[in-house]
Amino acid sequence: MQDFGLDNYASLEAKQQPTWEDAARLAEVRAELSKLPPLVFAGEVDTLRQRLAQAAAGEAFLLQGGDCAETFADATADRIRNRIKTVLQMAVVLMYGSSLPVIKMGRMAGQFAKPRSSDNETREGVTLPAYRGDAVNGYDFTAESRRHDAGRLLSAYHTSSSTLNLIRAFTTGGFADLREVHSWNKGFVDNPANKKYESIAGDIDRAMRFMEACGVDSAELRATEFFVSHEGLLFDYERPLTRIDSRTSLPYVTSGHFIWVGERTRQLDGAHIDFFSRVRNPLGVKLGPTSQVSDVLALIDKLDPEREPGRLTLISRMGAGKIRDELPKLVEAVRDAGAQPLWITDPMHGNGITTANGYKSRRFDDVLDEVTGFFEVHRALGTHPGGLHVELTGDDVAECLGGSEQIDEASLEAKYETVCDPRLNHMQSLELAFLVAEQLVETARRKGDS
Ligand code: PEP
Ligand code: MN
Repeated sequence: MQDFGLDNYASLEAKQQPTWEDAARLAEVRAELSKLPPLVFAGEVDTLRQRLAQAAAGEAFLLQGGDCAETFADATADRIRNRIKTVLQMAVVLMYGSSLPVIKMGRMAGQFAKPRSSDNETREGVTLPAYRGDAVNGYDFTAESRRHDAGRLLSAYHTSSSTLNLIRAFTTGGFADLREVHSWNKGFVDNPANKKYESIAGDIDRAMRFMEACGVDSAELRATEFFVSHEGLLFDYERPLTRIDSRTSLPYVTSGHFIWVGERTRQLDGAHIDFFSRVRNPLGVKLGPTSQVSDVLALIDKLDPEREPGRLTLISRMGAGKIRDELPKLVEAVRDAGAQPLWITDPMHGNGITTANGYKSRRFDDVLDEVTGFFEVHRALGTHPGGLHVELTGDDVAECLGGSEQIDEASLEAKYETVCDPRLNHMQSLELAFLVAEQLVETARRKGDS
């Protein structure tokens, strides 16, 4: 068989890897993972690449959202359903506003490992290893829970598997039927974003009845494609789940459809870029405010040497105060180099703050401002603002400040649930979707004028 160099990463520096306690256990776990069935099928991954190519060409929009860190405990039917519902509602708002197809993708069914800025965490004089996601250790602040336990990789696989099973059931089994647009909004109708949504849902209902009267009954209206993605971080998980597809004889990471490399692990000569450059999945790379033009061009050459449509998504996460200064030179250089990656905005990770009462938070206004800046930059350069990457939950939490519910610092004390970064709650997510829809309409209007 052809040697794809899938183990080459092992000779390179791999940042953010766990220090597993028990090497023998790790070997067992890797052997078991390598025998377990793939979570996704290569054909689906290829379909996603085609969809992303459409988005890169300006003919679709990517909506990617979910937890910062999924947890085993929260992989329940209710919580998964609420997240799917929120993503479906956002997608309706975006499609209705922009008339563009929306590619729906969860940060779900695999987002169990986190890179951390610091290896340790200190609370009241006690220092323990930092929480690195449920795939590595536990969130409880005890020495036992914070051990790096390779057995957790198997739990990550099985939890991803049951999550994905439910996602497939919801999105193809009737729940995502467009005739259900109203039911996704149940329990939420008393606030401005949900009222606005209700009026769109009314329009869609009428259109559906009209089509029914015409005898149209299309499968596309009864079910939806839904892809899953996570940060590709842990080699002890991703390598055993990388398989040679029998149809194409090429390697695919089968732990999810789309994999992104994070801001902390995207070194050009590092293990992550090497490993993921060798697989067929569409890839993302996070780009923070210190990204240099030369690095971005070199990343494109490594990850997408053929300039294959849909292969590469660049996820900028600059911060509201920086995006208008830092993004244009990157977009311009990439455009002038003849590459056409999909550009999407992550308006979360450049906007972290710590509140006076000690919570890691983000201001909703900063999130909106970064998204607006992203659209402004692309409009000015004539490139396509192709998607949105957000940390969200379908639940009624209070983690990000502001929005129409005016979440303030005191509210965080009652409803702050995340184990990692603060997420938009259901309502903030919907409000954001309305803003993005307006921006897409404005972009299309300017294009039409020019
Ligand atoms: C994340 O997406 O949760 C994350 C850690 O992002 P970044 O790599 O952009 O900091
Ligand atoms: Mn995060």
